[in-house]
Amino acid sequence: MTVSTDVTYAVDLDTRDPLAHFRQRFVITNPDLIYMDGNSLGRLPQATIPLADELIQRQWGDRLIRGWNDGWFTAPERVGARIARLIGARPDEVIVADSTSVNLFKLVVAALRLQRGRSRILTDNLNFPSDLYVLQGAIDLLDRQHKLEIVPSPDGIHGPASGLQARLNEQVALVTLSHTVFKSGYTYDLAAITEAAHATGALVLWDLSHSAGSVPVDLRAAQADLAIGCTYKYMNGGPGAPAFLYVRRDLQEQLHNPITGWMGQNNLFGFDLEYQPASGLRRFLTGTPPVVSLSLIESGVDLLLEAGLDRLRAKSEQQSAYLVELWETVLEPLGFTLNSPRDVRQRGSHISLGHAEGLRIDLALINDMHVIPDFRAPDNIRLGIAPLYTSFRDIHTTVMRLRKIVAEKLYEKYPQEAPTVT
Ligand SMILES: *Cc1c(COP(=O)(O)O)cnc(C)c1O
Repeated sequence: MTVSTDVTYAVDLDTRDPLAHFRQRFVITNPDLIYMDGNSLGRLPQATIPLADELIQRQWGDRLIRGWNDGWFTAPERVGARIARLIGARPDEVIVADSTSVNLFKLVVAALRLQRGRSRILTDNLNFPSDLYVLQGAIDLLDRQHKLEIVPSPDGIHGPASGLQARLNEQVALVTLSHTVFKSGYTYDLAAITEAAHATGALVLWDLSHSAGSVPVDLRAAQADLAIGCTYKYMNGGPGAPAFLYVRRDLQEQLHNPITGWMGQNNLFGFDLEYQPASGLRRFLTGTPPVVSLSLIESGVDLLLEAGLDRLRAKSEQQSAYLVELWETVLEPLGFTLNSPRDVRQRGSHISLGHAEGLRIDLALINDMHVIPDFRAPDNIRLGIAPLYTSFRDIHTTVMRLRKIVAEKLYEKYPQEAPTVT
């Protein structure tokens, strides 16, 4: 692809984009604001507003406690089955509960107990810090019988795929990685890592937070063991929406939720005094589900299913390639580095650009240029491409405004300190 830096080129790509009309299915209150952070918090789908109204006014307001029998009780499985279609899982292999971090904790402890006698856990230094904290907490809880090995990336951008494979042996209980890593957007070959780990008897737990809804994932074809992920990023489920967890069908009865509670109890309304895990994935529930935020995930997932993950991926690849080419022509001469893989097959749906003045450029972009990216230390300006609503014109404008900020040194008015949430 040879790109022109002319805006008419972007406008032309938008005109020919078969998914362009999906943008109208989202609430866009300010058409002049360019939102490049759909990988942190997806936009609000139009359909979520009447759904919220229905849940609050009619289901809660009118139906009251009867709502539990009208669909609230089964919402974790119902929404899970919808999400399953996005990640190549069977409907009964996905359930929605708690946060991503809590689901990770539950599955890590369950997996380590199943893998008794194996003492090593493999991950990489590109993993999301919360995931590493959860692993450290799980090791602590299990009386420090396990050793966490954090394999370093060769360059801070690409995952250490061969380094991980070289460390696999009969001592490894669990390999756990972000499928698409949060800073650089590097995406692992899920099937290849899973296969290599299985060859030595290790289980693999994938964090799909930055993949689900943007990168096609086929858990079934890969015979993946375990996975977790967020619903508020590319899935547009809303701030703090509960997360999903996946357990391959044949592992479900072998794994035990360490946070036992009544929602995971077999026959919960028997009010037995003894805990008996429910069969299937309900055993990974603990307490009462957050019905409203859980139910609101559905409209976001439906938009993704309607557009089709393969078409979304095709657009995302075209858009990230366009952004990388614009970077090379316009931004690289101004000191920006590409902190994401150059090979489109090795990256998810966001691009990180580095610059020595990254933080101050980020502040100028938000405050003076009406573009919302996010910032990840030390110098990454992260640009999320959400193919349901990101336009080629958005990408073009973002790049041209980045150029202006640096060419005219507009960032110099900002201090070096970071605000709390970047
Ligand atoms: C966003 C994200 C999370 C978020 O975890 P929460 O428990 O929802 O705060 C976890 N892991 C990865 C890889 C993420 O990108």
